[in-house]
Amino acid sequence: MLENAVVLVGNLTADPELRFTRQASLPVASFTVAVTERRAALAGRRAGRRRRSPAVLMRALTIRQPWAWAVICGGKDVENRAANFPAGYRGWVAVHAGLKDDLSGLSHPAVVAALRKVGVIDSRESACFSAAPRGAVVGAARVVGAHLITGELADGRQCSQSVPEVVGAYRARCSPWADPFSVWHVELADAVALPVPVPCRGQLGLWTLPPDVEAQVREQVKL
Ligand SMILES: [Zn+2]
Repeated sequence: MLENAVVLVGNLTADPELRFTRQASLPVASFTVAVTERRAALAGRRAGRRRRSPAVLMRALTIRQPWAWAVICGGKDVENRAANFPAGYRGWVAVHAGLKDDLSGLSHPAVVAALRKVGVIDSRESACFSAAPRGAVVGAARVVGAHLITGELADGRQCSQSVPEVVGAYRARCSPWADPFSVWHVELADAVALPVPVPCRGQLGLWTLPPDVEAQVREQVKL
């Protein structure tokens, strides 16, 4: 019995969530669809409406330096967090460098190794760190998964078990960037740098870029 057919053209922003109503146990699927500005404008014109702002609102993530640099330029493929901030979201996020630095990051072995790779010995003096933008969107990366430190990665590999009887000891993890003491490892891929960072205020968790900032980011990178 098909009374009304609706065709939605776009990309799912996350996996649909299926639930059942409490009384009749009817299946209900919830999902959101992202459409391009052109499609949104076209649909608006067809419907006789004036062109509206883009329907896609790009998500963003604020990361302190030198970690934002590490994600965009150093191959950092795991973001360590106490909470599963992307929840079901998978896709591009703008990487925003926070105003404040996390100086402890400069002595992290993976940061030191990444800096060495680009020929830097003294991390604090390096242009990668001192000239790295703050308070701006510096690039973008794809969120491809999120797993618990004891869990399974999006590609099926196992992360690792920490060794509880030895504080500070752990077996091999999913990535040299993975922190064994963070509860969640958020998997990142395909990082790209913005040729011109876009200044903007940061926020906690997964947030949405203001439309003018998003427009400047999208002008520079095709996502
Ligand atoms: Zn992991």
